[in-house]
Amino acid sequence: MAKGPRTLAVHAGEQPDPATGASAPNIVMSTTFALDEPAGFSINDFDGERPYVYTRWGNPTVNQLEVKLAALEGAEDAIAFGSGMAATTTMLLALLESGDHLVISNVNYAGTAEFVRKTLPKYGIEVTPVDSSDIEAVRAAVRPGTKMVFVETPANPILRLTDLSQVAAIAHEAGALLAVDSTFATPVATQPIAFGADLVVHSLTKYIGGHGDALGGAVIGSEAVLQPIRDDALVHLGGVMSPFNAWLINRGAATLPIRMRAHEETALQVAAFLEDHPRVDGVLYPGLQSHPQHDLARLQMSNYSGMVSFRLANGGAMAERFAKELEIIHYAVSLGHQRSLIYWIDSAAMMDSVFHLSGDARAVYESFAGQGVFRFSVGLEDADDLIDDLERVLD
Ligand SMILES: *Cc1c(COP(=O)(O)O)cnc(C)c1O
Repeated sequence: MAKGPRTLAVHAGEQPDPATGASAPNIVMSTTFALDEPAGFSINDFDGERPYVYTRWGNPTVNQLEVKLAALEGAEDAIAFGSGMAATTTMLLALLESGDHLVISNVNYAGTAEFVRKTLPKYGIEVTPVDSSDIEAVRAAVRPGTKMVFVETPANPILRLTDLSQVAAIAHEAGALLAVDSTFATPVATQPIAFGADLVVHSLTKYIGGHGDALGGAVIGSEAVLQPIRDDALVHLGGVMSPFNAWLINRGAATLPIRMRAHEETALQVAAFLEDHPRVDGVLYPGLQSHPQHDLARLQMSNYSGMVSFRLANGGAMAERFAKELEIIHYAVSLGHQRSLIYWIDSAAMMDSVFHLSGDARAVYESFAGQGVFRFSVGLEDADDLIDDLERVLD
């Protein structure tokens, strides 16, 4: 019988150490491995089952994490990277080449948005950003030569959702791969592969590591889709994960399912408080009935995660007060940690310098975010304490 997600989170990829019986995994920090027979010096010398040779090519502690991540996403294979951006950029550089076309969400993680607009065109890859919540817009953007559709759901920072089944059908009809940045959802909420995605990207720095102490990223999918990423790109671009970070993230991942339940429970309480507060102009949370895509959230997310974005009149000035006066919630970037984190994201700055939105796309962004949003990563503290912290500064 297939194991449940909590069991997989604790055990997948791990076993007691065969030499000592140690129940917790060892950290293998070694960069190199003693071989009992001569081997090649190029990644191309190794086919199929290969021994550990050099940690950039493969490391047992990193591999343990990869097995766990694949299990959590219901996938065949996973590749760990030194950061979420290393995962994203390596995937794109490995799978796209000059003359190819990429369709991507026009609102997503800022680093991804900037990379596809600035760097990919230098390599002759054409990029069409599109509102991926609008299925007809995705259909219109896809064309012969489209190699990949890359969406982020829920999307940073406006928590807009993309219907994965519909986008997968459009991508596949065009002979393109569907890649999904599922960092905000986590595999507890959504397994994109079950909705037809070919590749799943995570910043492990966020919920999966979960404790704000290790950068990491992953690309997850079938062995066939991942093979060129591992061999042609990971080894040569070199953005690999440290075994120490793999060990930390592996430990964090063990509690992912129970942490996500707590994040969701608290986020629902905080979102309800914010929605009722007279100074709050709007709250975006997929778990609220008022979310414009709540029905899709119910269909596609079995946990609404812990990200809440909200609007306040005079947001820029309030950001200064939040940074100085909040006592429990840290005014800081990043998300998905046990500690609550909040950050002001100004709409004009994002639309002008990151997303380059104009016309209708700008109006759609503003319909979600107004002048800007406070992106609140609701942590694992008591909901009442978080609400008190916010209420004191809001009043
Ligand atoms: C943080 C983040 C990334 C980048 O990950 P790093 O680990 O910071 O490099 C990519 N996508 C999303 C949605 C993120 O939140």
